[in-house]
Amino acid sequence: MPAHEMPAQRKLLILPGDGIGPEVVRQVRRVIDWLSRRRGFAFVIEERPVGGAAIDLDGVPLSDATLEAALAADAVLLGAVGGPKWDGMPFDRRPEAGLLRLRRELALFANLRPAIVIDALVDASPLKPELVRALDLMIVRELTGGVYFGEPRGIADLGDGERRAVNTQVYTSSEVRRVARVAFELAARRGKRVCSVEKANVMETGVLWREEVTRVHADEFPALELTHMYADNCAMQLVRNPRQFDVIVTDNLFGDMLSDEAAMLTGSLGMLPSASLGAPDAAGRRRALYEPVHGSAPDIAGRDIANPIATLLSFTMMLRYSFDLAAEADAIDAAVHTVLKGGMRTADIMSPGMARCSTTVMGDAILRALDKQAG
Ligand code: NAD
Repeated sequence: MPAHEMPAQRKLLILPGDGIGPEVVRQVRRVIDWLSRRRGFAFVIEERPVGGAAIDLDGVPLSDATLEAALAADAVLLGAVGGPKWDGMPFDRRPEAGLLRLRRELALFANLRPAIVIDALVDASPLKPELVRALDLMIVRELTGGVYFGEPRGIADLGDGERRAVNTQVYTSSEVRRVARVAFELAARRGKRVCSVEKANVMETGVLWREEVTRVHADEFPALELTHMYADNCAMQLVRNPRQFDVIVTDNLFGDMLSDEAAMLTGSLGMLPSASLGAPDAAGRRRALYEPVHGSAPDIAGRDIANPIATLLSFTMMLRYSFDLAAEADAIDAAVHTVLKGGMRTADIMSPGMARCSTTVMGDAILRALDKQAG
């Protein structure tokens, strides 16, 4: 949305959640405070429990009031949910059920997972540095359709010990077109190239996918480059030459796998942000949820050693895509790069010769770098 159409107030709902969620979100709050103090950007922030923390307080992982707040917000930032304390509960009342309900009610159909290799961490990649240096690709995965939701589904007993399981891969043109639009809009702000990925050689859904993406491209984004690739080839190309990609758009199933594969090119879970976007409303505002890819990491929770960068980079995605504040997002990203270049590392990204630091000290260092950049 153009800045002049932005509502004066930016309404942000923060859901810290469980485990390391509150610890990493705390560092983002400090950066938000910095933006308000030093750059004059006001955010109206509401913070509410979700997941296990909400179960302990309200008896449910996502209360109706929190859902209302999410629907009313311009964007939602989530830490992580879950933990051993709630593992014995029935699936529909577990912390993760709250997150699933939130995604469903916000109708978040496009999942964005960037794979960015920061120069200072190039050796953390399992691939050779020359293959991944300066890698910056974005995978857009369709999130609410396809084989994970298609009907019919189920396991039938055929008798005599024989059973039959069915899942249905199904897509409509509008489901494909809306996620294709998200991918083209993103590419327009980046490298201007979209690679659409399916299996049109063996699946009708792939044929429809290819035709609809091609149509959206011709009708609405002819200035951008569109290529097509089969999903199996894409899996190979991601490790052979990942830098050939700018934006990849693909369905729910292939996106699930390819985004995890791409994530590993960067080497560390504590560094991976994500965004999930829904349909635009009348004012052009898309519903949006931003969250790190990692979970609540109960094994290290409460020790102030988690890496806050995945959550901070999720927040910079929010600045870019929900608030059109690309310059501020760039400034925060640059501060993160500076700190890593200076050798500071949380335990998960530690390597010989670097300086190990806590969650809070990493936050301190990023704020100092922001101060220094601002002069
Ligand atoms: P996890 O991502 O929480 O942790 C996997 C490993 O990575 C752990 O060793 C952990 O210490 C480490 N790790 C994760 N994030 C880190 C960070 N920021 N800094 C340093 N190290 C980090 O996955 P898990 O252990 O499979 O799941 C733990 C809990 O989180 C479970 O209850 C699971 O259901 C939940 N979970 C939630 C989400 C979510 O909220 N979106 C996603 C995945 C898992």
